[in-house]
Amino acid sequence: QDTINQIAAGEVVERPMAVVKELIENAIDAKASAVTVEIADGGKALIRITDNGSGIAADDIELAFLPHATSKIQNVEDLLAVSSLGFRGEALASIAAVSQLEMVTKTRDALMGTRYRIEGGDKKEIENVGCPDGTTFLVRNLFYNTPARLKFLKTSQTEAGYISGLVERMALSHPDIAFRFINQKQNRLSTSGNGNLKDVIYHIYGREVTSNLIEVQSREVFCTLSGYIGKPVISRGNRGMMNYFINGRYIKSPIIHRAIEEAYAPYSMQHRYPFTVLHIQIDAKYIDVNVHPQKMELRFNNEKEVFQSIYHGISEALRHREF
Ligand code: ADP
Ligand code: MG
Repeated sequence: QDTINQIAAGEVVERPMAVVKELIENAIDAKASAVTVEIADGGKALIRITDNGSGIAADDIELAFLPHATSKIQNVEDLLAVSSLGFRGEALASIAAVSQLEMVTKTRDALMGTRYRIEGGDKKEIENVGCPDGTTFLVRNLFYNTPARLKFLKTSQTEAGYISGLVERMALSHPDIAFRFINQKQNRLSTSGNGNLKDVIYHIYGREVTSNLIEVQSREVFCTLSGYIGKPVISRGNRGMMNYFINGRYIKSPIIHRAIEEAYAPYSMQHRYPFTVLHIQIDAKYIDVNVHPQKMELRFNNEKEVFQSIYHGISEALRHREF
């Protein structure tokens, strides 16, 4: 039984970044307006995530750690259609199966919060505590009981880099949430949560990038675009600074990459890959649901039309602009 849980857990949590991703998504689903992520040793020794969201009612806590205990949606069609990020109800169970986990949580209308401890999937402790509204997860010693997985991880520095990139993408996709990232007790990022995308870009990429942006804001036939494309001076020779979010998610699509690059081509001889932060809203009915949600790559039923819409929106934004 334990082994089965641990194997299943491996599919959801393959590395510390995956734990951080699931816990941030839960915080977003819980309507948090502030999320703090703190790690030590690349997340191997400690991941602490604090949110000011709804909290979990005392009676629901043990249920939340059972596999398939989702209070949210059930299938891939729903996943892409609605705003909720969770959908299989496996994350907490999976993370708890391969770590020493402590959670402190309180709902707004509860007088007391609850502290819950679970190790390797075994409940250790549950007690009342005083605490602020919201939820804090402490995940210690990830993969302590699955040495094979532990061995497969990269250095702490590399794992911390993955997590840092993830938090940045989360901040870019949710400018209305204040994100803080602390690595080895050092503050690495904090965004204001004031809803201004350009402010988030400034906090992550700095002044030079922020002062060389062209705004994209348009309603196209098949999608709505909003965000920024960088002027050629801040473009790069690779796709590392191309960020776009489809219906709020960081998902890749070869068609969208191509549309951005081709719309940009007339403006930059040297660099094909513009700095990009683009929010793309597409009606879920155009999204091909025969995709594995973990693969983070998306296809569309009508690729040509989606390509045209994005190409058109960006071309229009770039036209007549001074470079
Ligand atoms: P899913 O997100 O797919 O529903 P999870 O295993 O990630 O499944 O979480 C299980 C349940 O625990 C969620 O449906 C939610 O009710 C609750 N939960 C988890 N994290 C939080 C949080 N940070 N704030 C409030 N509720 C949470
Ligand atoms: Mg979840």
